[in-house]
Amino acid sequence: MQVPNDRQRPSTPPRKKRRRRNTAAIILLVVLLLLGAASFFVFGVNKWSIRFHLHGEPEVTRECGEPYKDEGADAEVTGSILDFVHHPVAVVISTEGVNIHEPGTYMVTYTAKFLWLSATEKRKVTIVDTTPPVIELKHIDDYYTLPHHPYEEEGFTATDNHDGDITSRVTSEERDGKVYYTVSDAAGNTASAEREIFYDDRNAPVFHFPDGEEVFLFKGETFKDAVTADDDADGDVTARIQISSNVNTAKVGTYTVNYKVSDEWGNEATASRYVTVKRKPAAAPKNMDPKKVIYLTFDDGPGPYTQDLLKILKKHKVKATFFVTAAFKDYQKLIRSEYKAGHTVAVHTATHDYEQIYASPEAFWEDFNTMEEIIRKQTGCRTDIFRFPGGSSNTISANYCEGIMSTLAQQSADKGYTYVDWNVTSGDAGDTTDGDVMYENMMNGIHTYENSFILCHDIKDYTVKMMDKFITDALKEGYTFLPITSETLTCHHGINN
Ligand code: ZN
Repeated sequence: MQVPNDRQRPSTPPRKKRRRRNTAAIILLVVLLLLGAASFFVFGVNKWSIRFHLHGEPEVTRECGEPYKDEGADAEVTGSILDFVHHPVAVVISTEGVNIHEPGTYMVTYTAKFLWLSATEKRKVTIVDTTPPVIELKHIDDYYTLPHHPYEEEGFTATDNHDGDITSRVTSEERDGKVYYTVSDAAGNTASAEREIFYDDRNAPVFHFPDGEEVFLFKGETFKDAVTADDDADGDVTARIQISSNVNTAKVGTYTVNYKVSDEWGNEATASRYVTVKRKPAAAPKNMDPKKVIYLTFDDGPGPYTQDLLKILKKHKVKATFFVTAAFKDYQKLIRSEYKAGHTVAVHTATHDYEQIYASPEAFWEDFNTMEEIIRKQTGCRTDIFRFPGGSSNTISANYCEGIMSTLAQQSADKGYTYVDWNVTSGDAGDTTDGDVMYENMMNGIHTYENSFILCHDIKDYTVKMMDKFITDALKEGYTFLPITSETLTCHHGINN
């Protein structure tokens, strides 16, 4: 019998071969088991996640308007058990919703992704307005408020970090020499400011003389001083006026009254004015025809022929009016004679120089006062009647000062003076030197007007010479001659400049 080959020549012993195969399988199995267990552990038991690390606080608060810069965050992948794993992941930050100019609560969002993992984190950002507004007060240089007067605002502004310009919301209150300002913003933050009021009074009181800058009254009348004074700060200070006066209404003459008053601040004002007590005008003759009245007026004297004229007037017991000048110094004492004889003495001009007196209102009144004082020296009294050189209608004054006559007319009324023009001219101002022509002019005039104001010049010899005849004939015709007084119906030409 033959043994098969394979039995005859076995390559390996069969027991040993089988044992080797089993070992490999076991190892493989173990490896597979281990791998499965590891996988189960790594991806099953262990949970992977993305973890954030916020830089800074999770909740931040910022003032409105303050810039906000997010501090950022890091993220990493880590396991719940395998927490030694720290795999960094990119973070996307979104601050889009945050409005630093509007108070409120906002969220900053952080997003990170890795493979199948995705996560977000948030940070709370609160914008608040706790800043009060700012009030700025304006100050004007050298600004002051009158005592007793309300403060007049120099100005202010109010601005708020959130609300912007809130000037219109400012309220102010004046109290005890201060002004208090307050304003609130929409968030309720309040600001206040105050200013001290600087009081000052730099003006003295001002006097008012409603009864004229100069007073004229007749002897025996009562002088009741109508002076008042007011002050820019104190108002009416009339009660505090101190008056020193020696006015004696029982005696004809010109008196000076002095006034003094101070305001509470200590500013003092002084003034003085003339009060003239005039002699009473003679009563009009009982048999006078009111439609036949003549006011003879003589300008530009007294001069060399005035004395003769006074004699003629005296002879006829006729009163006239003299508008005097200072032209003839040697004859100035005749002003006194005119006055004592019962004629009216009135101002004409000291110089009769148009260019000088009509240069300005001031120049006019300077000349006027010079003449007024000469009259006062001669008669003891100032006079409330005057005649403009050239008459109120003159246009020659326009050569020197536009509109001066209008100004002077108003000023004279304020000062208490009455100016008188004429409605009849004798013609002796240059038209004629013939007494007969003058006579005709004057007769025609008085036959035309019920009240004739006749212009004559006592510095013309031919005027004085013809006067006796004129007066004689006018008296024969039943005319009455009267001196002009402040009671007389005035005669005005009308202003042309
Ligand atoms: Zn004249």
